[in-house]
Amino acid sequence: MIVTDVLAPRSGKPRAFVPTMGALHDGHRELMRVAREHVGLEGEVVVSVFVNPLQFGANEDFDQYPRTLEADRAACEAEGVNILYVPTVWTIYGESPSITVDPGPLGEELEGASRPGHFAGVLTVVGILLHQVAPDFALFGEKDYQQLELVRRMCRDLSFPVTVVGVPTVRESDGLARSSRNVYLSADDRRRAAAIPRALKAGSNATSVEQIRTAAIHELNAADLDIDYVEVRSNDLGHDVPEGEARLLLAVHAGSSRLIDNGPVHVGSDGSE
Ligand code: AMP
Repeated sequence: MIVTDVLAPRSGKPRAFVPTMGALHDGHRELMRVAREHVGLEGEVVVSVFVNPLQFGANEDFDQYPRTLEADRAACEAEGVNILYVPTVWTIYGESPSITVDPGPLGEELEGASRPGHFAGVLTVVGILLHQVAPDFALFGEKDYQQLELVRRMCRDLSFPVTVVGVPTVRESDGLARSSRNVYLSADDRRRAAAIPRALKAGSNATSVEQIRTAAIHELNAADLDIDYVEVRSNDLGHDVPEGEARLLLAVHAGSSRLIDNGPVHVGSDGSE
């Protein structure tokens, strides 16, 4: 495995790319495995580890974000990654960048409503990384569903020559989504956070948009989690929710941590209000 902060020009082999902020866990490793499936044993899997300052707000956890490069390196090695790219802020942004990617209206909603500028930061770094790595496939987790949708839109609207692949969320045994930020949870917050997958399950058993929201909110309230939002959207995050498959998305505070999750729901014939 090559570990580098500067990428050589890419070879002609098929290439799949997994951008991360490090503190790698089994969710990231699943992305690496799906990446390998897309390019085969002859292809190249590239993983980046870069904690992107541009996507953190002033009061967020940029300085505290877990940095575990030695363990990350071992995880990548174990997954047969070909290139571990660990750029510096300089390699990504140069001296004084003034151009960013505008995520459009969806960038202000859901996560964007609580985290102003977050998705401009995400899309800007993803755009730079996609140009530097030049992959055929880029893998993103459904765990960050809005991020996945915005990356899809950026690649479509700005004609990035890459296929964006979404990967289902990897969960702990009680259903909590794996996250680098789970290490911040106190034992009590961790126990209460198990209500999040229960809320998604309760939502998936309801049929109308309002019943789905109410069922999810009930589970979160019962665990005394502080709700930021609980919303039902179309699968591409539109406000008009058609009958059939849709998405339930939520964000809560547990102690000092903010946790997000989402899952599929089915809206029945009386559910399109
Ligand atoms: P992060 O390092 O948190 O920025 O995440 C890097 C990539 O891993 C993103 O595409 C995330 O959506 C994805 N990811 C994070 N957690 C999970 C998970 N539990 N299951 C699947 N993908 C995940």
